[in-house]
Amino acid sequence: MTPNEPPSSTSRSAFRASIVSTASPQLTSPFFSFLPREIRDLIYIELWKTSSLRRHITAEKVAITTYPAPPEQVNQISWHHVPCRTDPTAEDVRFESFRRSRGGSPEEAVWLVRLRSEWCLHWACEESTAQWMKTPKAALLQHLAEEDQSGDGEGTRYTGGDIWGTAEPTGFMNTLLACKRMYLECLPSLYSNTTFIFTDLIEASAFLTLYSNQHELYPIRSLELCIRTSQLMTELYYPSVELGAAGDEGPPASFGDSAHPGLSMENNPWQAICDRLVELPNLQSLRIWFDTRDLRDWHKRVSEARFFQRLFDVRVGQKEKFVLGLPLLPAAAKRGLPNHHFLEGEVVQDAPFVVVRGPRPNNWRVHLMASGLRGSG
Ligand SMILES: [Zn+2]
Repeated sequence: MTPNEPPSSTSRSAFRASIVSTASPQLTSPFFSFLPREIRDLIYIELWKTSSLRRHITAEKVAITTYPAPPEQVNQISWHHVPCRTDPTAEDVRFESFRRSRGGSPEEAVWLVRLRSEWCLHWACEESTAQWMKTPKAALLQHLAEEDQSGDGEGTRYTGGDIWGTAEPTGFMNTLLACKRMYLECLPSLYSNTTFIFTDLIEASAFLTLYSNQHELYPIRSLELCIRTSQLMTELYYPSVELGAAGDEGPPASFGDSAHPGLSMENNPWQAICDRLVELPNLQSLRIWFDTRDLRDWHKRVSEARFFQRLFDVRVGQKEKFVLGLPLLPAAAKRGLPNHHFLEGEVVQDAPFVVVRGPRPNNWRVHLMASGLRGSG
């Protein structure tokens, strides 16, 4: 995420050591010599605020193609960040807006794209990023970046990392690049005052693998995951042994094919994220929101107790700051799994998190309506 910084744990440690050993104390700088550290820290926070304290983190899509990603692949990930402009507690209006739009209209097409957005609740953030990327300034910066990387851009001023995918100019890169002393001093402030938002399990897993094990340098305090998970992921946790073949009313689980032979309940991106979350000692705020791409009902296929079991080991400062957003459940009689598979009542009595349920797009209805079968609905 930081420009010119090697991302692997070992190389990052060596990189940091080289900066520490060569950093000038900047004794002639009034900023460092006159202002006490407490004031400088307050100034850094004000600088971060100018760029939004809530930021989406995404990875170059071509960089992560398999799970687990080979170390050499993780080390080459180019991370992007864009400001968040979505209130994660706001009502999800996408399905209702889609339902109200006229069949075949441009409005229906727009809401359909938003319903299928991998950014889920953050579809507006995705769209603003896409809009910014169409601007002449974005095109110019992208051109400079490509020139710089190709080696043909002699004399260009591109410094790397903070341009591609950024929805608007940010103030924190200038701060990080001012001098080595400032970089070392303000980097922990950036990580401890920013809420990092992820909308992809593999990207979140790779980021936390890189940045969750050096707590002094990267004291991550606030995270959000807004995930529209695949059927593949939730099926890994389906209690087929308990329910037997008779309980499995859906199609065969697709995770058994040769494309994902190594995935299991114990080895998958979601479980890796949970393991990293358990290890974060500075976590003060954690918001996790889940939906599924599955056409079948959540309450018939997802064992919440099994899928979210590891979250019981995650520690966040206050319980109300640890929010797990899940789909609404129908009455017990209409569910496809026994009650003890759902995070409610006694099952969550001792949980370190609060469960907040809300409506989710009905994927099957969306599928039918997008196919022109709107009926009376
Ligand atoms: Zn957002």
